[in-house]
Amino acid sequence: MAKTVPFTLADAREWKNQFPTPFYILDEEGIRQTVTDINTAFSWNEGFCEHFAVKANPNPSVLRLLASLGCGTDCASIAELEMSRRCGMTGHKIILTSNETSDACYQKAKEVGAIINLDDITQIDHMERAVGIPDTVCCRFNPGSFGISNAIMGNLYDSKFGMTEEQLFEAFRILKAKGVEHFGIHAMLASCSLDETYYPALAEKLFDLVLRMREENDITVEFVDFAGGVGIPYRPEEKKVDILKVGAEVKKVYDRLLTANGIQLRIMTEMGRFVTGPHGYLVTTCVGKKHIYREYIGVDANAANLMRPAIYGSYHHVTVLGKENEAPCQIVDVVGCLCENNDKFAVQRELPAIDEGDILVIHDGGAHGYSMGYNYNGSLRCAELMMHADKTVTLVRRAETLEDYFATFDIDPVFSKKE
Ligand SMILES: *Cc1c(COP(=O)(O)O)cnc(C)c1O
Repeated sequence: MAKTVPFTLADAREWKNQFPTPFYILDEEGIRQTVTDINTAFSWNEGFCEHFAVKANPNPSVLRLLASLGCGTDCASIAELEMSRRCGMTGHKIILTSNETSDACYQKAKEVGAIINLDDITQIDHMERAVGIPDTVCCRFNPGSFGISNAIMGNLYDSKFGMTEEQLFEAFRILKAKGVEHFGIHAMLASCSLDETYYPALAEKLFDLVLRMREENDITVEFVDFAGGVGIPYRPEEKKVDILKVGAEVKKVYDRLLTANGIQLRIMTEMGRFVTGPHGYLVTTCVGKKHIYREYIGVDANAANLMRPAIYGSYHHVTVLGKENEAPCQIVDVVGCLCENNDKFAVQRELPAIDEGDILVIHDGGAHGYSMGYNYNGSLRCAELMMHADKTVTLVRRAETLEDYFATFDIDPVFSKKE
């Protein structure tokens, strides 16, 4: 299956006249459709809410779009909580799922009214010290082993997240004694999983806990949070997860374990990658070609714009705009300008002939792309554009300037003196 781009060379050239490459294009309609699919998949569950993992794409225009579609957010920092608040989300639309949480972060969570999701049993004391005991608390579970997992998440025994089963039961007893009235259970046991049985298997695991929590602790769990981990097809030969099918399979588990036992609860998800990942494109221009022991195509974007290939060796598909139908005729590495040899968007990739000035599109950069960016080698962060249904674009984040880069040296009057 070929991967396609929802805009043309002519579109990109027009945008480039106004905004120099590199820039990100976010496909508004694509995001809208994906969220609609998620909401439809779980529409059978009263109170279902997708809490977008802000870290995937922390842009206010994205959060406001998601809020308008009924989504909330999942945050892990003060900045993400504050961004959610400024985008109109409040109260239980926001979840704080952090670890090694600071008192200041708990205080921000309380200020915005977020559900606090505790990563560890020791965090009960930290939370109480910082903000007291809220009415509603969620706890993060780590079963240690689980059939479906993967390389990025690793073995759950090695994962720093969540509590053991014994700790979860103990934590709920302590919280109940301290006055908590509403309980939730959270678990994220995979990352970028294309396995359509992942959420149903997770449902099986968590609903079983819910039943035992009622029997053993006399606690009624009111919501279960499946977190993220649903993957996207980065490679052309991979298949998109059918979220409607996943929702229907989860419903079967829900009916069998919960409905049959007289339990009703709200389901939440915290998908990040699945929501925005495929709908973000890094647009870059070929600025040079080099022939040594390999063939290199140099582009004006670099790993500071999208670091997944550099840190995980991830595959990101590359399309040469205007040459979508040309047969590949060379094997190249597509590289940026950083003084790091892992600054490569593609390694030994078959691509059509490429000339200086050609516009390349790097796919699936809508999650953990811009947001993982950094300033190494003095790289300035690029602009983000939102593409609307009619192919017009809105600048939703301007590119950084040298002044932005130097801003934190304003404590140095000699250096920061403007000419
Ligand atoms: C990263 C993360 C998510 C989102 O994961 P995706 O794989 O992007 O869907 C959700 N919840 C938590 C707690 C996370 O850390």
